This record gives sequence, structure tokens and C-alpha cells, in this order.
Amino acid sequence: MKKSNLVLCVMSILLLVLSVPLHAEEIGRGVKVTYLGHAAFKLVSPNGVVIYLDPFLSGNPKTPPELKTVEKADLILVTHGHADHVGDTLAIAEKTNAKIVVIPELGRYLTRKGAKNVVGMNKGGTYTSHGMAITMVHALHSSSITEGDQVIYAGDPAGFVIRFENGFTVYHAGDTGLFGDMKLIGEIYKPDLSLLPIGSHFTMDPREATYAAKLLGSKYVIPMHYGTFPVLTGTAEEFVRLMTKEVPKTKVLVLKPGQMVQ
Ligand SMILES: [Zn+2]
Repeated sequence: MKKSNLVLCVMSILLLVLSVPLHAEEIGRGVKVTYLGHAAFKLVSPNGVVIYLDPFLSGNPKTPPELKTVEKADLILVTHGHADHVGDTLAIAEKTNAKIVVIPELGRYLTRKGAKNVVGMNKGGTYTSHGMAITMVHALHSSSITEGDQVIYAGDPAGFVIRFENGFTVYHAGDTGLFGDMKLIGEIYKPDLSLLPIGSHFTMDPREATYAAKLLGSKYVIPMHYGTFPVLTGTAEEFVRLMTKEVPKTKVLVLKPGQMVQ
């Protein structure tokens, strides 16, 4: 083999090794899931459609700096009005022209603030876009926007079920306490992957999230909404310990902010 060919060969092998994701296991059948810290996720469909969920990025102490800037987004899904979930929604929508999918009351607030492309929907409804079915589901929480000393009504809090064009289904629970109808979400939408808050104080803790995982019966769970602020005391270690004991059929993927699975 010529020396230049050998160099090329070594370089291609290196490139191949470097491009293997951190979790070599295929979970998303071509759907890429990146954890951005707190409750923020970036999902990319097999066709390259980019979805941001609760994009709290610039003010998020856990988001890696290189992921705070968004170049492309097609859809932004926001579960409720709290600042650590609305986050950079307005700025990203303005820059990328992405549609913002939210409950109507929060949608009206965002429109008043300059958003041009808001899709207001409500719980139980499904919105179809880019070949994906996005269903808004219940969440047990509160929802409002604080401006100075004013608290503004932002509609109900929600969760989202996203069914991609290849059938792969992701459930983002939003901020929520445990509720029995998660069993229905499991039965009706059969999420392959559930994103569940475990931090306690404002949402479920690891014990309740383990019970939620049992009701949902999904193949994979990614814990979220923990460790961002000192008040969120639930830990991934405790969640993994409980899940291994009580819901061994569901695999827990503990992602560091910035880490991607597909
Ligand atoms: Zn909240």
C-alpha cells in the first residue's frame, strides 16, 4: 500500500471511531436525542427535522456553552410558562422561524411578546407537522410567567408525546408530580423513551419517577430536572438504584448535558 493510501485509511478509521455516539446502542431508530441540561432536549428526526423541548439554554448553568447557540430549529415545544422551561424560546423562534407549539394561553403571551409562528393546542389534541404527530398530554404542576411583581396566567402545564415518522415515540413529561393517568399515556401512545423529572421539590423525586416508569412501561427512560439548582435534590444514582430493583425491564440512560443518544 502506498504511504498516502495508508494515511487515508488510518484517517478514515479514526473518523469512524470518533463519530460513534457515546451510547453505541441504537435506541432511537435514527432519532437523535441530545440532553441540554435541566428539562431541555434537542431531538432530530431521521429526516433532519429539529425539535427543541423546553429550551432553557442561555441561563441554564448545565448547558454546555457550545450548545447554547441554536442555528436551526423547526419546532419548539414548551411544556409550561415557568422561566426555566420557556427559556430562550422567543429568541430561537425569531432567529430560526421555528413554530412554537404550546397551550393557547402561553401562546397568546408569546405572541404578545413578538412570536410570529405560534401553534396553540390543548391536552388530548394531536398536531401533525413534518410527518410527526405531537400530542399534548396532562402534567400535574402549575404554570405562570413572572414579570417584576406580576404573576401572569399561562394556561395549564402539559407534557408532550412525539411520534416520529418511523414510529419511534418520545414522552417528555414536563414538570410534573406523579399521576395515575401516566398508565393511559403508556397504553395509548406506547412511548419507547420517556423523559422524566426526578429532582423533587417542584416535581417527582426518584421514588415517584420510578413508579411513573412502571406505569409508562417504556423501553428507555432519561432522568431530567435534577442537579441544576441546589434545591433539586433527587439524584440519578438513587433513580438508577430504584429502577434496577423495581422496573428492571426499563433501561435508564443517564445523560450528561451535551450527551447524545440515537
Ligand atoms: Zn415548572
